[in-house]
Amino acid sequence: MKVLTWTKGYLAEKGVENARLEAEWLLCAATGLDRVGLYVNFEKPLSEAELAEVRGMVVRRARREPLQYILGTQEFMGLEFAVSPAVLIPRHDTEVLVEEGLKRAKGGSRILDIGVGSGCIAVALAKQLPDAEVSGGDESAEALAVAEKNAVRHGVTVRLRQGSLLAPFLGERFDLIVSNPPYIPTADLAGLQPEVRDFEPRGALDGGADGLDFYRAIIPAAVDHLTGDGWLLVEVGIGQADEVRPLFAMAGFTEIFTARDPAGIDRVVGGRVS
Ligand code: GLN
Repeated sequence: MKVLTWTKGYLAEKGVENARLEAEWLLCAATGLDRVGLYVNFEKPLSEAELAEVRGMVVRRARREPLQYILGTQEFMGLEFAVSPAVLIPRHDTEVLVEEGLKRAKGGSRILDIGVGSGCIAVALAKQLPDAEVSGGDESAEALAVAEKNAVRHGVTVRLRQGSLLAPFLGERFDLIVSNPPYIPTADLAGLQPEVRDFEPRGALDGGADGLDFYRAIIPAAVDHLTGDGWLLVEVGIGQADEVRPLFAMAGFTEIFTARDPAGIDRVVGGRVS
């Protein structure tokens, strides 16, 4: 299939890392074939319509738009999530936040995800905890629409509210609050790979001068939104756990812990109010 060789070469030239694999995925999306089908039909020329579809996708990818925005999906916790440029693409690193949350949730837990984005965390929790009441907040109405779509797709209910951090949940208490807030120091944004820097929502990435702005806001504020022995768990960036743990201690949390992601990086910090 000439188009596969051409696509691979073109993407590689534009700096796309796994050009061969990504070329295959784009061709699969354009033709409706799976990868086996692609090889079985290797000698079969594409139709004009398929070619036009592939070209459109390849042009977007060559500009370094993330593959997930082009295909419209990303897998997370074994579930397929719809994504759009209004939301951060779910990262496998974030699965440890869900797993640590699951360890601490009880039947009937009231759970809140601050900065719900695509809804991947909230939906994955709701899916595994059918008795829980899961809520999510986000400043972005567009993100909330994606989260709602994902809740429907996976047959769960997530109470979604628009607003800044805990503001939409005034007077409410939860047994478990989770958040993957923006945590990249502003000055580091320019050095990120183009897929992230130029396409993912800045508001989901920029954590202020040292990357810790949202932890300073969320951790003390969460105290008044947790039940008696409720847990707050946050995802952190590389090297931030040592700076985030003291924020939990200062806000009066106990049983403060750190959990690593599969790459061995401290990825989640959590604690309990007493
Ligand atoms: N993990 C994301 C990245 O490094 C950042 C997500 C965030 O700021 N919460 O691209």
